[in-house]
Amino acid sequence: MPFETRASLPGPPCPPTRRCRLHPQCRRRFTPSSPRQMPVRALGPDPKGGCPMSEAITLLVRAQMLIDGLGGPPLSPGAVAVAGQRIVYAGPAAGAPVAPPEARVLDYPQGCLLPGLIDMHVHPTYYWEEPDSATYTYEPENALVYTPVMIALVAAQRLREALWAGITTVRDTGSVDQIMFDVKRAIERGRIPGPRVYVSGRLIVPTGGHVHYLPGLANEADGPYGFRRAVREEVRAGADFIKLANNGADLTQEELNAAVDEAHRLGKKVTCHTSKPPSQRMAIEAGVDTFEHGTPSPEEIEQAVARGITWVPTLNIGEEYLKWCDRRRFDPDPEVARRAQKEYEETLEYREKKHASVAYALRAGLKLAAGTDSWLGGVRFAAMADEVRWLVEYGASPMQAIQAATLWPAQAMGWDEIGCLQAGKLADLIVVDGDPLREIAALDRVQLVVREGKVIRS
Ligand SMILES: [Zn+2]
Repeated sequence: MPFETRASLPGPPCPPTRRCRLHPQCRRRFTPSSPRQMPVRALGPDPKGGCPMSEAITLLVRAQMLIDGLGGPPLSPGAVAVAGQRIVYAGPAAGAPVAPPEARVLDYPQGCLLPGLIDMHVHPTYYWEEPDSATYTYEPENALVYTPVMIALVAAQRLREALWAGITTVRDTGSVDQIMFDVKRAIERGRIPGPRVYVSGRLIVPTGGHVHYLPGLANEADGPYGFRRAVREEVRAGADFIKLANNGADLTQEELNAAVDEAHRLGKKVTCHTSKPPSQRMAIEAGVDTFEHGTPSPEEIEQAVARGITWVPTLNIGEEYLKWCDRRRFDPDPEVARRAQKEYEETLEYREKKHASVAYALRAGLKLAAGTDSWLGGVRFAAMADEVRWLVEYGASPMQAIQAATLWPAQAMGWDEIGCLQAGKLADLIVVDGDPLREIAALDRVQLVVREGKVIRS
């Protein structure tokens, strides 16, 4: 079978009017049709196999290597063919359809094709830690005033940066008022470049809970009915999913259960900020879909595996925060230095526990999802290459780390159209320079970014 491929070849059966020009030996014939005439939806697996409609192909990318995100061995060389917004072929380069002359063909003889990356934890509107904000500048009279317009512009700039780095989808896990809904709409309408954005709106916290002191970031609620109402408020505003925050146990199990139930009743996934015990246990018990941060115990990890819950450990921010505390330990202000020293020691301890949790999670088969928790000033935004590198340093195999940044987040959130390179999925793909299975840092050398079939960077 010279044209056998891992992916089933797409395209309806070919009407017999013209010779196939995809494969030199192919004897089948078909009627030519322009991409406009043939809707992308019509593309599907050809029950007879072979002979895809090459006329529909708008982009063909070939690379030395292809990792499709599904966890199997890489293909070498590999190719992805795109028709409009969707992938119509992903497999060995030898079996790829021939693109029509008007299609764009890109070759990366040293590159590796991968699904577009998914950052499961970002805060594009979080501005309080920016060096020029009133919170941290030593010259408050010169601090930038972060009006809603300025916050939206900062978010737009950060998201553009993320897309450029190969992140084609982000999950915004808590944002100021309703700003991110507008930023998302602007991206969807093509007014600004950016990744696909899933927005939670404000964090839902108990009165006086996590980040309640940051204006516009928290939706404070009390009691099971209060939490149900808060969930409805965020859904009314346009939330794609719900973000709860539990610091230790500052909300009750009853409140948590009610919020999770209400979100699921409304068809929304739920995640929970779980920084310290017993918040992980409480979140897992309530049946969240994912939980963020923390150092889950072996029992909690096993329970999460049994319930199909995914953990977003957010490693990079911990490492960056440690560096940040380290620098501030030597601040000329003794009070700042004293507090930084305390934070530094606590963060070191937290890191040790985190190492143990990640190691156990990998052994137990807990699905991990990469999230950068980008908010800290001075750190590059949505540093997925760093997060994936840390996952490997904490014990994940390069393939597991790549899946944590592609397929596993998509599965956790029910985003069925993204996360892997497969015929029928949306064409979100990247090429990096080198072999990330040998050198995970190759993810930092992005050469091509395609979002929904559109070449963003090449
Ligand atoms: Zn966060």
